[in-house]
Amino acid sequence: MGEISWPTMFYDAYVFDMDGTIYLGDELLPGAKRMLEELRRRGCTVRFLSNNPTKNPAQYVEKLEKMGIPAPIEDIANTVVTTVRWLLENHPNATVFPIAEEPLVQALQEVGIRISDDPRQIDIVIASYDRTFDYRKLQIAFDAIWFEKRAFLIATNPDRFCPFPGGRGEPDCAAIVASIEACTGVKCQAVMGKPNPTMLTAALGSERPKNVLMVGDRLTTDISMAVATGIDSAMPLTGESTLEDVRAISERERPTYVLDRIDRLIPQEVWMQLGWDED
Ligand SMILES: [Mg+2]
Repeated sequence: MGEISWPTMFYDAYVFDMDGTIYLGDELLPGAKRMLEELRRRGCTVRFLSNNPTKNPAQYVEKLEKMGIPAPIEDIANTVVTTVRWLLENHPNATVFPIAEEPLVQALQEVGIRISDDPRQIDIVIASYDRTFDYRKLQIAFDAIWFEKRAFLIATNPDRFCPFPGGRGEPDCAAIVASIEACTGVKCQAVMGKPNPTMLTAALGSERPKNVLMVGDRLTTDISMAVATGIDSAMPLTGESTLEDVRAISERERPTYVLDRIDRLIPQEVWMQLGWDED
């Protein structure tokens, strides 16, 4: 642990983060396609699990398909799914103000959750990764939470930024949450995405297979969830977290494996048999 190491065995099920793990922006990461094909050929369960609420599962199917990775919609879960589910289970009659892009807004409408931008009606402000965030939305959140003193704040995911090619990125949900917390002095009450363990249930259902490996590029979300739920984890160094980050935390918080590339999930012995190289 704390060094590059890769599995020597196959797991029954693999749960994959997507941004920074399978792809960066619109570019598939090296070896991702052949690795997924090999896992499926061996009958391993493969699921995709993202904190990113700017797409719904159908849009992820489309994105993966375009990159040559066919995936049935049931195999994909993200914070659009888990946020809507949480609201239906805990606050089905609440009026919400989603600071969100179209896919989340649409998913809320589809299940009949009331949406309003009137601070006198809003019970819950939902902060998310919203690239249309502006001063108007911040004012509505401020009025509903601070002035009307009726709304509370929840968030789709805790991510600070979404990793892009070339070491770049895009501000994510944490930036929106911070702006609302800063002006209202109120703390966000619930965060839906990883490391919240309900995400693992969203990916695998309540009957979890025996040997599950969580695969993701972020220590604070992907790997934290694996640690919290007692499953093994693998962290590729293709997204946010670095080997230095891994070394800086305690051993029990570290991923089981650190991968220099995602297809190292396939044991070395099998690489040899398949005649793979690092193309
Ligand atoms: Mg990621």
